[in-house]
Amino acid sequence: MQALDKQPVTTLKGVGPRSAERLASIGIETVEDVLFHLPLRYQDRTRVTPIGSGRHGDHLVINARVDKAQVHYGRRRSLLVQVSDGTGRMLLRFFHFSNSQKNGFSKGVRISCFGEVRRGPNSLELIHPEYRLLSEDHEFEVEESLTPIYATTEGMQQQSWRDLTDKALALMDAGGALRELLPESLLPATTAISLADAIHTLHRPPPHTAVRQIEAGEHPAQQRLVCEELIGHQLSLLKLRQQQKSQNSFRISHAGKLAAGLYHQIPFQLTSAQQRVLQEIDTDLQQKHPMQRLIQGDVGSGKTIVAAFAALQAIEAGYQVAVMAPTELLAEQHRKNFETWLQPLGIQQAWLTSRLKGKKREAVLEQVISGEAQIVIGTHALFQKDVIFKRLALVIVDEQHRFGVHQRLALREKGNSGGKVPHQLIMTATPIPRTLAMTAYADLDLSVIDELPPGRSPVKTVLVSDQRRDEIIDRVALACSRGRQAYWVCTLIEESESLQAQAAEETANQLSEELEGIRVGLVHGRLKAEQKELVMSAFKAGEIDLLVATTVIEVGVDVPNASLMIIENPERLGLAQLHQLRGRVGRGEQQSHCALLYKSPLGETAKQRLAVMRDTTDGFEIARKDLEIRGPGEVLGTRQTGEMEFRVADVVRDQKLLPQVQQMAQQILDKHPQAAEALIARWVGHREKYGAV
Ligand code: ADP
Ligand code: MG
Repeated sequence: MQALDKQPVTTLKGVGPRSAERLASIGIETVEDVLFHLPLRYQDRTRVTPIGSGRHGDHLVINARVDKAQVHYGRRRSLLVQVSDGTGRMLLRFFHFSNSQKNGFSKGVRISCFGEVRRGPNSLELIHPEYRLLSEDHEFEVEESLTPIYATTEGMQQQSWRDLTDKALALMDAGGALRELLPESLLPATTAISLADAIHTLHRPPPHTAVRQIEAGEHPAQQRLVCEELIGHQLSLLKLRQQQKSQNSFRISHAGKLAAGLYHQIPFQLTSAQQRVLQEIDTDLQQKHPMQRLIQGDVGSGKTIVAAFAALQAIEAGYQVAVMAPTELLAEQHRKNFETWLQPLGIQQAWLTSRLKGKKREAVLEQVISGEAQIVIGTHALFQKDVIFKRLALVIVDEQHRFGVHQRLALREKGNSGGKVPHQLIMTATPIPRTLAMTAYADLDLSVIDELPPGRSPVKTVLVSDQRRDEIIDRVALACSRGRQAYWVCTLIEESESLQAQAAEETANQLSEELEGIRVGLVHGRLKAEQKELVMSAFKAGEIDLLVATTVIEVGVDVPNASLMIIENPERLGLAQLHQLRGRVGRGEQQSHCALLYKSPLGETAKQRLAVMRDTTDGFEIARKDLEIRGPGEVLGTRQTGEMEFRVADVVRDQKLLPQVQQMAQQILDKHPQAAEALIARWVGHREKYGAV
C-alpha cells in the first residue's frame, strides 16, 4: 500500500474537492496529515451518570425521562425541560429551539443527553445539551471511546472530523504505511509505543483512559509524539547548523596589539566570565567556518565590551565589522561607547541609520565600500541593498532575541560575499532559560556571562500601590535634591506609540509642576531621533534630574549615575521586560532602588509576578518564571511568527525530555540522515524552507 504521506486526502471516501480545499487551508493535504491532526481535548461519553451524582462543572451523559416542558418568557425566551431518572431531577435549558423540537418533549419520553452541568436558580441545569429522544424499545447507548474534539475550520463540524479520522484510521489499521521514523533502539522506555498505536489511542482513547492524564499531556501515547515532534524541531536546527558549519568564512588570528591597547585603556578589569567568553570567541574566529555564537548574560553583565574586543580582533586582521542594534537609541549608545574605546586606537568608525539621507549617506556608503570604515554601527539600515562592504568578516547583533531564526538567516545572507560568510555574534537582551535556549537556539553555540562586574549591589525593589503615589513623588524629590538621578517609566497596554507618548507627556507635565526645582526631561518613541539623543545626552551629563520615559528606554540605556526608577503600572508588562527596565539602574556604585507603582487592586497572578521582581534580581531566575507564566512565544518574542508553536509538545511542560531529545536528534542526524529528513518534513514542514536559505 502507498505510504500515507503520499496519499492525498481525496483518496478518503467522501472527501471531494471542496472539503479538500477546506482542509488545505489548515495545512492538511495527505492522509498522514489527517492522522496528525490530533484532538484538542476529549469528552467522556462512555458512561452514564446518575443525575443525583452530577456536579457543577461536570461534562456528563444522563439518561432520563421528560417530566415536563414549557416555554419561559423571561429576559430571554427559553425552553425549559425538566427531566428525572429516579436519582434526581435536572433542567435542560434551550434558547434556540423550533416548535417541532418543543413538541417532541412530551411527558414520559426517554431522552439521552450530553452537556456541561451548571448550577441554575432552582436546580442543576444543562444548557443546550446535545440530546436524542429514544423510543421505548431502544437501548440506551454510550460511546465506546472518549469523544475527541478537534480544532476545526469553517464548514467542518466535529462530526465531519470524526468521520474523516475514522476513515484515515481504518486505512492505517488496514496496513497503510505510516512510516515509523524514530529508530526503535533510540526510544526511551517510557515512550516505547508504536507510532500507529499512539496515533490510534489519541484519536480514539479507549474508555478506561484517564482524561486527566491526557489533559496533562502525560499519556505515553502523547509523550511518544511529543518526543518525535521535539526531535523533528531539533533536527531542523541541527541541520541548519550543519549547513552553516560547512560554509567558509574568514580565518582571523589571535587578538593582538589592539586588544592589548583596549585593555590598557578601560578603567576596569574584565570579569572571569567575560574573559572566558572572549576566549570562546577567539577560538571560533580562528576557524575556517563561520562562528554562530549567542552570548547570554544578565542585564549589566558587560556584553558590549566583549563585543568590542571581538571587533578589534577582526579589525586587526584587516577586516570590517558591522554592529547592529534594534533601536536608534541603542545604536547611538553603541556608537558613543565604541568611539570612546576605539578612536584612541586609531580606528575608523562609520554610522548608518535609516534617517541618514542624501550626500551624508553617500559619503558613508563610500567609506564602507572602500574599506576605509573599519567598523560600521547602526540599525537594520546596515543591511539595505546598497550598503556594500569591502571585506566584512564579523557581524555583531545586539539584543537580537526578539528576532526569529529566519531573520538571523536573512541577515547572514546579506553579509555573504565571494562565497565567504561572515562570523556572527549575537547578544541577547535578557537571559533565556536553558531549556528554551536548547530548543530555540540549537543552531547556535551558546556562551554565558554568568557573573556581574564587582561592586554592584542588587537593586532594591518595592511594590507600592498607586494610592501612595504622593509618597513616591516625595521620594523622587528627595533623591534628586541629593544629586541622584531617576527614571519615571510610563507604560500603556496599547501598542500605539502616540498614546504612549501622550501618557508620558502628561506625566512629565504633572511631575514638573509638583516637583519644583527639579529638572524633568521626557523621552518617548514619537520624538525625532535628534531630540531623543539630545535628551539622553543631557540626562547622561547630569543636566536632567528626572527622566520621564516610555518603554523606549527598555533596552541598553546606560547612565550609571541614575539610581532610582519608578515604573508605573508594572502589572502590564512581562517579567523580562520589567527586568530589562530595572536594569537601567544599579549600574553605578551607589545603592539603587526601584519602585513598582502598581494599580490596585492587584489580581492574584499579578501579585505573584510582581513579587518575583521584588524577591530576585537574577535574570535567569526571572526568565524561568516568565517562561512558566507566559510561555515560550512571549519570552522569545516570536509569538507572531509562530516559530515556537508546537503541535503536541509544550516546551515548558515537556522540558524534562529535552536533554534526551537533544541527544537523540544528534544521533539520528549522524546515523540516520534519511530519517532525519523525513522527521523534519513531518513535523516542521513548511518551516523547513528556512533551512534552505
Ligand atoms: P549589558 O550586558 O547589559 O549590555 P553593558 O555592556 O551595557 O551591559 O555594561 C554595563 C556597564 O558595565 C557599562 O557601563 C560597562 O562599561 C560596565 N562594565 C562592563 N564590564 C565591566 C567590568 N568587567 N567591570 C566593571 N564594569 C564593567
Ligand atoms: Mg547591552
